[in-house]
Amino acid sequence: ASGYCLLRDPRHNKGLAFTEKERDAHYLRGLLPPAVISQQLQEKKLMNSIRQYEVPLQKYVAMMELEERNERLFYKLLIDNVEELLPVVYTPTVGEACQKYGSIFRRPQGLYISLKEKGKILEVLKNWPERSIQVIVVTDGERILGLGDLGCQGMGIPVGKLALYTALGGIRPSACLPITVDVGTNNEQLLKDEFYIGLRQRRATGQEYAELLDEFMSAVKQNYGEKVLIQFEDFANHNAFELLAKYGTTHLVFNDDIQGTASVVLAGVVAALKLIGGTLAEHRFLFLGAGEAGTGIAELIALEISKQTKAPVEETRKKICLVDSKGLIVSSRKDSLQHFKKPWAHEHEPVNNLLDAVKVIKPTILIGSSGVGRTFTKEVIEAMASFNEVKPLILALSNPTSQSECTAEEAYTWSKGRAIFASGSPFDPFEYNGKVFVPGQANNAYIFPGFGLGLVISGAIRVHDDMLLAASEALAKQVTEENFEKGLIYPPFSNIRKISANIAANVAAKAYELGVATRLPRPQNLVKCAESCMYTPVYRNYR
Ligand code: NAP
Ligand code: MN
Repeated sequence: ASGYCLLRDPRHNKGLAFTEKERDAHYLRGLLPPAVISQQLQEKKLMNSIRQYEVPLQKYVAMMELEERNERLFYKLLIDNVEELLPVVYTPTVGEACQKYGSIFRRPQGLYISLKEKGKILEVLKNWPERSIQVIVVTDGERILGLGDLGCQGMGIPVGKLALYTALGGIRPSACLPITVDVGTNNEQLLKDEFYIGLRQRRATGQEYAELLDEFMSAVKQNYGEKVLIQFEDFANHNAFELLAKYGTTHLVFNDDIQGTASVVLAGVVAALKLIGGTLAEHRFLFLGAGEAGTGIAELIALEISKQTKAPVEETRKKICLVDSKGLIVSSRKDSLQHFKKPWAHEHEPVNNLLDAVKVIKPTILIGSSGVGRTFTKEVIEAMASFNEVKPLILALSNPTSQSECTAEEAYTWSKGRAIFASGSPFDPFEYNGKVFVPGQANNAYIFPGFGLGLVISGAIRVHDDMLLAASEALAKQVTEENFEKGLIYPPFSNIRKISANIAANVAAKAYELGVATRLPRPQNLVKCAESCMYTPVYRNYR
């Protein structure tokens, strides 16, 4: 290829890092200024310029432009500065990017499959330039983060998630495929916006929706085989549970909002036992919010207790209660409950608010997953502190920060420094009575990249709940004494590639054990295997 094309191919471009020899061999003479600049120095320069932007969205745009220009440098930055750049490339900034996707949109970064493509989805997949795909992240844009229906503009989510698959989990960028299925939007503002990039119609539902998704799922399997992972992302809960159940038996599917969240929260709870004492089965759990996150977490906790105690899961579920927008979920409400809430309708008097539920149930662990901020009030936290002799565990998972059930400061102050606290959105460390408390972040990015890598290296063809438990177990083990001393129940993100390799190994081991792995023979050392499979962004030499 000509030197000119080389510079315009983001997968191969190295900018000024092309050596003298490469410039000669690849017709680059004169196309670049004379200086040869190392990847290290390029990284330093770009980090300097990104840090100068004060508006997060500008940082996001700068990163996306870098990805389009020089893919390896983009990943080098992301991997080396993960704590700083995660919030830029993913939540919360990606949310704003999706809201303004129409105006920042330059070049398509993924595949758009709309109702117009019905009957032709297989052909559409063949238009994508890469043949061997390992991970697909797909959204229909109906519930983007906590921002609601963003229709076709949800594309920022699969793009961002897959960047994390590569940076944190080491999946090759060319093996990642972001997809947005556009069935319309019910967002009136977008429907009226003359610059809207999606289908200008209300959402298709029922049979029309099901048929498009079905064609999509079949086409994916036909085109990429059985081992491609399809991650459902940010679907509304009225579709999410059904899609997962429907395709879980025929495809390799994973829903991060339900299963990834469950796995990361279970890991935090298991790790927290070191601080709050007792076994999982000895605790009582109360949730505010009974949607994808809440019921997903509850189910995985019940499953883990069931494994540990050999009690049936129907029994272990009774240790867990959930409150939704109508109050405590109890058996007298059974008729009107959505199906995913039914397993949680225990025999109990009706209770119509959280504070009363806390007082009657006396949970040792309180988990917020309602999407509504400021709901863990002073009274709620004080009640938690009053009847928990050791330490109450309080998880405020709702995102973004404005929706957090309480702040770190509130949790520590109102519990007089006794609460162990972690949240969905990050909070700064807080000093109370001379002691510094560092809140943990229950970020799904701890789990899904390593989980996906584990499926890929074992050639798994189905996801099993036991693999989610394996991922939780591996993550919980990565929390050190030093982390615990600060009140942390998650390890720092700076070690994420090592953490991901350990998660991948544990997930892969489970896949072999369950007989759903197709890569045979099983590698002896799965951690080594995971590490050696991971993509590294260091420039290659061209001869
Ligand atoms: P979802 O499926 O829409 O569920 C929301 C649940 O909250 C529903 O059960 C809803 O009740 C309930 N709810 C809403 N308003 C309430 C109120 N005022 N009082 C009590 N309950 C209320 O949403 P989701 O996907 O589970 O996400 C929920 C939140 O969790 C979001 O903010 C999301 O950002 C966060 N999240 C965090 C993480 C993480 O930290 N890693 C991961 C995933 C999600 P009804 O069913 O009665 O409507
Ligand atoms: Mn999500």
